[in-house]
Amino acid sequence: DTRHGTVLYLEDVSVSFDGFKALNKLSLYIAAGELRCLIGPNGAGKTTLMDVITGKTRPDTGSVFFGQTINLLAMDEPAIAQAGICRKFQKPSVFDALTVFENLELALTTNKSPWATLMFKLSPSQRDRIDEVLTTIGLSAQAKQRAGILSHGQKQWLEIGMLLMQDPKVMLVDEPIAGMTHQEIERTAELLLSLQGERSLVVVEHDMEFVRSIARKVTVLHEGSVLTEGTMDEVQNDPRVIQVYLGG
Ligand code: ADP
Repeated sequence: DTRHGTVLYLEDVSVSFDGFKALNKLSLYIAAGELRCLIGPNGAGKTTLMDVITGKTRPDTGSVFFGQTINLLAMDEPAIAQAGICRKFQKPSVFDALTVFENLELALTTNKSPWATLMFKLSPSQRDRIDEVLTTIGLSAQAKQRAGILSHGQKQWLEIGMLLMQDPKVMLVDEPIAGMTHQEIERTAELLLSLQGERSLVVVEHDMEFVRSIARKVTVLHEGSVLTEGTMDEVQNDPRVIQVYLGG
């Protein structure tokens, strides 16, 4: 049973847009606690794959399971998020006018009015949770600063922290280091590595050096299916991968 031990199980997933197959019988298995990197040239289907997992796009055929038994194709987008699959988009969306702490406080709630949330007193356990996340994302010293004055990298970490407030089981992360300084890139690698184990991560990234620094296993997408999987060394020396990237 291939579903044993997997947190995400996609089998023979196909998605067509006006007859064009953005995903073509794609199969992907993510183990519990794993950090997997997803690479592939533009148009390979990476975004569509993320959209299928979060329920934004419904495949024409195939199976998508979360854990052993949860059929994601039977759930809508909010239900999938509620079940513990979250997505970090490339552009950070934090509330500039609020402090770092308040941004994390807001992230405690999902549906109620965000502004009402800030008027209630936090429970001690909620406060502890925020402190814990502040430590994880390395922004404890900035807790009382307005998010608007954070650097680009710090804003990205804050947004990761906001997602962590919901205690997700799976985090889908879209190009986390775009626009970051070298130092911020190193810190982001450490942060993502610290999250694996307890959670599973699927990271879409173009920077191969960064991929090498975080991922034990890399999946290469091409024309809507998995071209190959393996360590960064294995995939980088694969003639098919070289051909796809060089367009030979
Ligand atoms: P990647 O993220 O790897 O660059 P995408 O998943 O965005 O690839 O796209 C895969 C293919 O599907 C591309 O050729 C893209 O043009 C096409 N595509 C994606 N979304 C749509 C859509 N909503 N309508 C039509 N074509 C789409």
